[in-house]
Amino acid sequence: MSLENKVAIVTGAARGIGYAVAKRFVMDGAKVVIADVDDEAGQSAVEDLSGFGDVIYLHCNVAERLDVRNLVAETLNAFGDIDVLVNNAGIVVGSDFLDLEEDDFDRVLSINLKGAFLCSQAVARHMVEKVQSGGAPGAIINMSSINSVVAIPNQIPYCVSKGGINQLTKATSLALAPHGIRVNAIGPGSIMTDMLASVNDDPAARNRILSRTPMLRIGDPSEIASVAAFLASSDASYVTGQTIYADGGRLPLNYTVAVPDED
Ligand code: NAP
Repeated sequence: MSLENKVAIVTGAARGIGYAVAKRFVMDGAKVVIADVDDEAGQSAVEDLSGFGDVIYLHCNVAERLDVRNLVAETLNAFGDIDVLVNNAGIVVGSDFLDLEEDDFDRVLSINLKGAFLCSQAVARHMVEKVQSGGAPGAIINMSSINSVVAIPNQIPYCVSKGGINQLTKATSLALAPHGIRVNAIGPGSIMTDMLASVNDDPAARNRILSRTPMLRIGDPSEIASVAAFLASSDASYVTGQTIYADGGRLPLNYTVAVPDED
């Protein structure tokens, strides 16, 4: 198993992509900390996964420095180490640009971007100390999005936060490369989670997405988890500073593709 005995923190892992990553990591042999703000969903994720390996839930709002400090301390307390961090927690707030509230802009940036910075810095401090005392270097994975490079006019803070994630990934990869610690990102296209739930009930929205998706289907969270498993493993030992897009072909597409009618 490629992550045997590694300790991984996955933020926003009570559901959606984070849950799929946590599940894949547990299956690959890792001890996993599910960090989230939804305590009920977090505990239920632990119940689902605990039959497969070591997994615990810790409450952590990634935008709060003290929560992040506790997350690191409690992870070390429970498992004695941190090898992998997945900065996955993220939110979307839709609003027309001219009506966008300052508070909403701040909230999205503080969770999606500052949260990834706070968690990365706190975990990297542990990882660097470990390397300096002869331990193995770790890996950090940031959840970006195709909206880091393309954009949606009524999701301005989200797009800005994901553009920032790509630069956070590059800059922190350079800062941590001398220690052997790798930092990469994943840029999902449209993935079937609660974040995308409204699409299920709205044929026009589904058509809009699929017409920009050459593979003509919405992705499954497990297809993002498999990229995370690769980036976390020693198979990616010379990969750092990269964002890998798992988007069914959306980014290379200029125009649109024809969407077959639903049966
Ligand atoms: P999701 O289903 O909404 O799950 C996100 C989880 O993060 C929820 O459990 C949420 O709790 C939690 N969370 C929210 N704020 C938090 C905070 N401050 N601290 C800790 N946890 C927090 O989202 P998803 O679709 O799996 O997306 C996960 C990541 O992938 C995000 O970074 C997103 O931007 C990215 N992504 C998703 C897609 C997609 O199509 N789904 C595409 C590209 C990128 P609550 O539910 O209580 O808020």
